Amino acid sequence: MKISVYNSLTKKVEELVPVKENEIKMYSCGPTVYNHAHIGNMRSFLFADLVQRILRVVGKYDVNWVMNITDIDDKTIRDSAKNSPVWHSDMGEQTDEPKENLKKLTEYYQDLFLEDIGKLGIDVEHFYALPCATDFIDEMQELIRNIYKNGYAYISEGSVYFDVNKWRKDDVYGKLFKIDFDNFRAGARVDSDEYEKENASDFVLWKSMKENEPFWDFEIDGKSCPGRPGWHIECSAMEYELFGLTFDIHTGGIDLKFPHHEDEIAQSKAGYGIEPTKYWLHNEFLEVEGEKMSKSAGNFFTLRDLETKGLDPLDIRFSMLSAHYSTKFNFTFQGIESSKKARKRVQDFIYDLLESDNMEGELLDVEKVKNTIFEELSNDFHTPKALAGLFGLINSTNPKALAANSRNELLALLNDLNHIFAVWDFGTRPVEIIDIPEEITELAAKRWQAKADRNFQLADELRKEIDSKGYIIKDTKTEYEIIKK
Ligand code: AMP
Ligand code: ZN
Repeated sequence: MKISVYNSLTKKVEELVPVKENEIKMYSCGPTVYNHAHIGNMRSFLFADLVQRILRVVGKYDVNWVMNITDIDDKTIRDSAKNSPVWHSDMGEQTDEPKENLKKLTEYYQDLFLEDIGKLGIDVEHFYALPCATDFIDEMQELIRNIYKNGYAYISEGSVYFDVNKWRKDDVYGKLFKIDFDNFRAGARVDSDEYEKENASDFVLWKSMKENEPFWDFEIDGKSCPGRPGWHIECSAMEYELFGLTFDIHTGGIDLKFPHHEDEIAQSKAGYGIEPTKYWLHNEFLEVEGEKMSKSAGNFFTLRDLETKGLDPLDIRFSMLSAHYSTKFNFTFQGIESSKKARKRVQDFIYDLLESDNMEGELLDVEKVKNTIFEELSNDFHTPKALAGLFGLINSTNPKALAANSRNELLALLNDLNHIFAVWDFGTRPVEIIDIPEEITELAAKRWQAKADRNFQLADELRKEIDSKGYIIKDTKTEYEIIKK
């Protein structure tokens, strides 16, 4: 089935036409591994996972999915610095070698990240690569030399900057994001990795070495400029090395449109002479009480925080996937609770189908339902409408009354959908273990004794008392069973 996507570059919904038939190359901006990712970050990774799954299941594409790991930037350097207050013993001992400390901190958080996304059902096995930025320093340097050679970069005090004004004479800066050039500060430079659109100016490609920070040797235009890469150049170089340009899809959170992705486009075009990707896909924020969840606002939960509160990661996954990626997602505990119920509703329906053994029965046009649901998914990944279709079907179908043919077709459809949503089980229904309170087991034992004593009046009274407390007793000749109503 054809897939259409909202492309942030053209600001239109377009039919996806891959560079190479039947194949999709997709690059997702991954985590900065200086701390636990919060569930706002997770929304962007869940979105990327959803896209690649829909492309496989509905679009029948071969998908090569890359998610990079940002293991060098302002934050990883800050938190791995000698005597950093956030360093702890699980990362090992700090040394006098900044590069080693950086590696210890980032590897520690990368492992935890992989654990977290695994729990969230993100398709870790399908990654084509999970490249770390520090493994591509030579390639970044090569790109920076190219940009410089092509006249779009300059060196200042050992750092290299992208010359935005020069670039604007030949191309567009502001393809994804409208930048107000009336107040553009020509020649002003910004060194930090993240900055606001009001501060748009020449951005850093390579930062000169600072005391006690990791650095790599770098030769450019006959000058020695030891230092480290800026954040934006990392993605440009890795995409080129892993995919070649132009590849198909680039994903990320909406905050990455500027400056990260805008700068990525300028760098790739200025250095390699070609646009990085055809389709830019951005997910909206996850919010808490109307504000973006972020570390700096302090309003964040990690997956671990939520697990400690008893939430199931798959309910969190289902809850996020139930909303359309282009709308703000308001995180509430109540919201997760409703998703838990909705997920269970589908799960019980699946178990009912699996347990039913009718040969004859009602017939269902499963092909028609499948087409409607897949149609919604192919239309810019519209999961809410697809799920509405699924619940409509569940509400109007008695799983135990279906004929074998329809039942098997329906199970196959649900199985396909589970390759996308990945939150349901197709095994046997687990036995629900309910703890019966001691008070009830004592009353039941007394009643059994009363029956043995042929004191049927007392036995009857006890049965009523047990009943009023929400339990039923089922007897056989030799034993009894307590059931919660
Ligand atoms: P970072 O680890 O900060 O580089 O962010 C990783 C990804 O999370 C990026 O794609 C961000 O755009 C995304 N992101 C950060 N905060 C949120 C949020 N509150 N809601 C959705 N996506 C977010
Ligand atoms: Zn990136």
